[in-house]
Amino acid sequence: MIERIKDLQEKSAGLEPDSARRKQMKQSTDAYAERFLESLSGQKAYVRFDQSVDKELHSPIKETPQDISDIVSFIENKVIPHGLNPASGGHLGFIPGGGLPASALGDYLAAVTNPYAGIYYSSPGAVLMEKQMITWMADLVGYPSTAGGYLASGGSLSNLTAVIIAREAHEIKPADIEKSVVYLSEQTHHCVERALKMSGMNYCIRRYIPVDDRFKMQAEILEKTVQSDLEKGYKPWIVVASAGTTDAGAVDPIDKIAKITSAYNLWFHVDAAYGGFFLLTDKGKQLMKGIEQSDSVVLDPHKGLFTPYGLGALIVRSEEAAAQAHRYRAHYMQDTKNTDAVYSPSDLSPELSKHFRALRMWLPLKLHGVAAFRAALEEKMLLAQYAHEQISKMPGFETGPEPELSVFMFRCNPGTGDPDKLNREIHRMIIDDGEIFFSTTTHKGHFMLRLAVLSFRTHLDTIDETLRTLKEKAETAAQNI
Ligand SMILES: *Cc1c(COP(=O)(O)O)cnc(C)c1O
Repeated sequence: MIERIKDLQEKSAGLEPDSARRKQMKQSTDAYAERFLESLSGQKAYVRFDQSVDKELHSPIKETPQDISDIVSFIENKVIPHGLNPASGGHLGFIPGGGLPASALGDYLAAVTNPYAGIYYSSPGAVLMEKQMITWMADLVGYPSTAGGYLASGGSLSNLTAVIIAREAHEIKPADIEKSVVYLSEQTHHCVERALKMSGMNYCIRRYIPVDDRFKMQAEILEKTVQSDLEKGYKPWIVVASAGTTDAGAVDPIDKIAKITSAYNLWFHVDAAYGGFFLLTDKGKQLMKGIEQSDSVVLDPHKGLFTPYGLGALIVRSEEAAAQAHRYRAHYMQDTKNTDAVYSPSDLSPELSKHFRALRMWLPLKLHGVAAFRAALEEKMLLAQYAHEQISKMPGFETGPEPELSVFMFRCNPGTGDPDKLNREIHRMIIDDGEIFFSTTTHKGHFMLRLAVLSFRTHLDTIDETLRTLKEKAETAAQNI
């Protein structure tokens, strides 16, 4: 047996490369990272592909080691190039991401040191850093010191966790589900619908409160609907407001909604996955006035704080409510239950073992300072406003409402022909070209183009190029169709 053990140790020794080998591996990956970042301004924002890439992407996992430079070359040439390039400042579709290089370094250190970030007993450092990030965001929202929360993988998981906490806080039993009412709008992100399903609340009653012509939930109608539900014997449970809708960037009237949720004792959840970090700006703070009165808020650092994907945050006014919903016990965890009053992330969320996510947020905040983020966010708002102004002046174009944050809809409508067909063609040409990337949406049955500015790499030159491209494609498209 001893012989076999020694033999196996030798065969697996490659898993622990020595310093020289580590350096060589890092040189390979670093060199590619540098090539990628240095060439970004010349890279496309979108590269169309067909299913032929699937075959190219197949690289078998073998019993034997492969060379690092071949592996990096495969990633560089096969894995990364196709589809959307969220690292590009030309990404103006959906809700843009970013990918701060400083976050990547945080991820690297987090993975090398690999602290057990879910439990205070295992790593007070990692846990307290996560708590510091939560407190920083809770202060941004304006919550009292009772607040808590956790760093999740994104907005969808954070919204799911919020719905579960709200369900537990209102002590909804199976028999109550069909009488419980959730209030949202047609503009609410679809992950909330998924959260209801996954949290066992699928059979609750949905009330889609109509929005006004600026896509904002109409608070007066919300109040009347709650009253009418109470008269019918239903149980109004939760209002989900949006601070920055995905489609139009609209901020619901949070202040007015807070008065209603407080008067009728409803859980007030704000989905600020896209818009939340605009709270760093004066305009954002003004728009989201009243958010401090909510019970829970979701913010996505992988959107508004430009970190790489995989970072969302749930902040709850009452940390205790989050703990109530996630309390657990297990024999094999008995060593970790410290007597101090510190809740670990695993006490407040569905996760146990977790990546040291805080470092990818903390490190860039430390390194660059908050002022740089505040400036970038204000710049994005002004760029969207500028683009909206310029497009509304372009002959043959019409725009939706002025962006409150950094998203708006528009379309080309010269007054003749089928505008849906024309805008589909414009969009097709822009995607074929790939220098910039837009996504589209449907509003009142019309096919709409949509511009979203949120990448930290989108600047004035990107927007000017976008305006030129639009003009040019609109002319060609009119001839094509
Ligand atoms: C992006 C977004 C979500 C979903 O978040 P993910 O991080 O993509 O899971 C939810 N709500 C809003 C308003 C969003 O913009």
